[in-house]
Amino acid sequence: MATKVVLRTEVPVEDTWDLTTIFTSDESWESEFKAVQQLTDEAVRFKGTLAESADQLLSALQFSDELVVRLSKVYVYASMKHDQDTGNTVYQALNSRAESLASKASAALSFMEPELLAVADETIATYVYESAQLRVYAHELEKITNKRAHTLSDKEEALLAKAGEVLNASQNTFGILNNADLRFPSIEDENGETVEITHGLYGPLLESKDRRVRRDAFQNVYQTYKALLNTFASTLTGQIKEDNFRAEVKQFTDAREAAVFSNNIPQTVHQTLLETVGNNVDLLHRYVRLRKQVLAVDELHVYDLYTPLVADVDELSFTYEEAKAVTIAALAPLGEEYVSILKEGFDKRWVDVVENKGKRSGAYSGGSYGTNPFILLNWHDTLDNLYTLVHEFGHSVHSYLTRNNQPAVYGDYTIFLAEIASTTNENLLTDYLLKTYEDEKIQAYIINHFLDGFKGTVFRQTQFAEFEHEIHLADQAGKALTAEFLTELYYGINKKYYGDTLVHDEEIGYEWARIPHFYYNYYVYQYATGFSAASALAQHILTEGEPAVARYLTFLKAGNSDYPIDVLKAAGVDMTTAKPIEDALKVFETRLSEFEEIMAKK
Ligand SMILES: [Zn+2]
Repeated sequence: MATKVVLRTEVPVEDTWDLTTIFTSDESWESEFKAVQQLTDEAVRFKGTLAESADQLLSALQFSDELVVRLSKVYVYASMKHDQDTGNTVYQALNSRAESLASKASAALSFMEPELLAVADETIATYVYESAQLRVYAHELEKITNKRAHTLSDKEEALLAKAGEVLNASQNTFGILNNADLRFPSIEDENGETVEITHGLYGPLLESKDRRVRRDAFQNVYQTYKALLNTFASTLTGQIKEDNFRAEVKQFTDAREAAVFSNNIPQTVHQTLLETVGNNVDLLHRYVRLRKQVLAVDELHVYDLYTPLVADVDELSFTYEEAKAVTIAALAPLGEEYVSILKEGFDKRWVDVVENKGKRSGAYSGGSYGTNPFILLNWHDTLDNLYTLVHEFGHSVHSYLTRNNQPAVYGDYTIFLAEIASTTNENLLTDYLLKTYEDEKIQAYIINHFLDGFKGTVFRQTQFAEFEHEIHLADQAGKALTAEFLTELYYGINKKYYGDTLVHDEEIGYEWARIPHFYYNYYVYQYATGFSAASALAQHILTEGEPAVARYLTFLKAGNSDYPIDVLKAAGVDMTTAKPIEDALKVFETRLSEFEEIMAKK
């Protein structure tokens, strides 16, 4: 269905975000740009003075905050103007100037951390004691000085920094090979037309209702990887060796300890996730059995795991106006304060709604400290888009509350926490929709949406996390990460997760070769912990009401004022224990039972 894509100038004002709340005009952006440029040049006057006195240290930290806040506004204005129409050359220019100013500012402030690391803890403690204003920075200063045990001499650090580009070579080679040089064969699509498989097309082809299409896509993609398997083993080896090398020279026990250290996440969080999900793979096996039954196939193959189990339902279509009303109704359990922020967002034009020519694809929540938490959408009247809207508003309200309740230094939140607020909202929407639509066809559709999300986030990302951890340990133990070793290990873990009902096609053993996240150094586990925490929080909010809502709002207001694990603990979720993950798995089990029941009636 081809709908005409309008030009940016044709989009009604009420469907656009109001960026004049950041700068009233490009001219005022221009003058602030110059002011920030000057401010950047002033950073040097603090160099070598941080240890002089409490006042001097405070001035430097306040200066840095001011520079970062003002720079961020300059930056987000230019980048959002650019995103709304990437073909607009005026904003292409503003955006690239903002980018280079950002890297200039970051270089200008880079002396601060090493200089602070050289100041004795006692001196910092005395200064913090002397100055009430400096006390605000106590947690931030602690985060920096904690790094001392894993910081090398200036000379060694400089050498490491210089070697960065060389150490990144494997990751770069993987990126270029996978994205630019790799070509997949062409296959016939559902209509008998020849299409060339691409990364973007692979997902939709794998979801095809025509089994021949998804099988051809699957087999052809993995035959392509198989032909280059030794090369991919080599790029992955390079990455794992980099992680292990950095961990070793920085005096960590292993790469995992090094990776979780920066956010003060205990290693047990990662370990507990692997163990708890690993002990409950029978739930995924049950899901696989149901899938085989619903698809009514003699053998369920890996390429049958993504095709939808439930046909689309026409009732689940929402105009943007309808979606706004559903969002407010579904998130009502979060209380009046929360809902009033949502309304403010809709009324004050935080959201850039419709698609236009040249607009950046997808969706995000952005802005910076001191601006509204804007949302970019490319609206279509689907259930997926409704989920996207509540998801992005989860980020935006989180940002709004953090920025309005924390000083600039703590006015952001880490990746470990980032997806929790958004996913909590998704859980509340699922609950609302299931209570609102009694028709079983619709119920089945919504539950299926939830189950597939859970499968892809909790089970699949934990499966990735397990593989990633195993190969780091294997390399550390001196084992060669050959294509054969990686394939056998990956195949075995896949078998453990999906169980005996699935026919484990040979090709799935090569999947490790195409996953970019294995180059992200212990990143993926956070998807699974975030989803689990969100699931627990939504349960608390729905069953406990007011006290749970109060704890949740405290969490949203905390930003970076404490370590992420402690911020979550205060909200009633202790990720150092198995409980939140077990609770999330229970929700999955309940929904799975509901789904089995509906399917049994068919
Ligand atoms: Zn998100």
